[in-house]
Amino acid sequence: MTLINPQPSFHALIPAAGSGSRMGSELPKQYIDLLGRPVIRHTLDALLAVGALSRVWVVLAPDDAHWTNYQWPSDPRITVLRCGGATRAESVANALQDVAKQTDPATWMLVHDAARACVSPQLVARMIEELSDDPVGGLLAVPVADTLKRAGDDGRVAQTIPRAGLWQAQTPQMFRLGMLREALAAHPDVTDEAGAIEACGLSPRLIASDATNFKVTFPDDLAMAARLLSSAAELQK
Ligand code: C5P
Repeated sequence: MTLINPQPSFHALIPAAGSGSRMGSELPKQYIDLLGRPVIRHTLDALLAVGALSRVWVVLAPDDAHWTNYQWPSDPRITVLRCGGATRAESVANALQDVAKQTDPATWMLVHDAARACVSPQLVARMIEELSDDPVGGLLAVPVADTLKRAGDDGRVAQTIPRAGLWQAQTPQMFRLGMLREALAAHPDVTDEAGAIEACGLSPRLIASDATNFKVTFPDDLAMAARLLSSAAELQK
């Protein structure tokens, strides 16, 4: 019988091994300048501001030549792993193998995209509070507000998808290390961690988030992220 530690720890894991091809930049998007700092620095600072997180794992591509060009906070909670894979799921799965060598399988892992730089530390703290007793775990998500259309090959609407009950998945996605590792090993073709957990027949909980926690994906997103981060900094003054 596996005994579950009554007071598990909470770790963040930031997959940052993508090339960000949709951004149309030579530089991977996690390193693109946002208010004078690389995108991932804002993400890292937001997660380091969450007191409940005792470790923050950053997952880079094995041949990443950019990380060492920047200065990073000297916070002992940060560990860099150079084990990124060909897909986001592979990057996360590889990292979890490394993390598992030195971490209790009951530890909660909060997997968060490097490119969601505007994530609010308060929202992550609330998520931890709401999910820490959950048997499965869950993810931040927003109810879909717009009517959705499926496109046909001719660029015309093939179908309208009813939006009732639809949510847009975000990150962090929070699951226990042991369960997530097994789920990703069994279902490597997913686009998020919740997808792997669902494929195992479990139902992750949806924690309501908002549109400010968007993923910087296209060039126009940078200006929006800069506006959000500047106004959050103003509010803190
Ligand atoms: O490309 P996309 O926006 O879906 O990437 C989401 C996150 O996953 C980013 O932080 C990106 O760096 C990361 N990723 C990764 N390994 C890959 C592809 C993406 O760590 N092979």
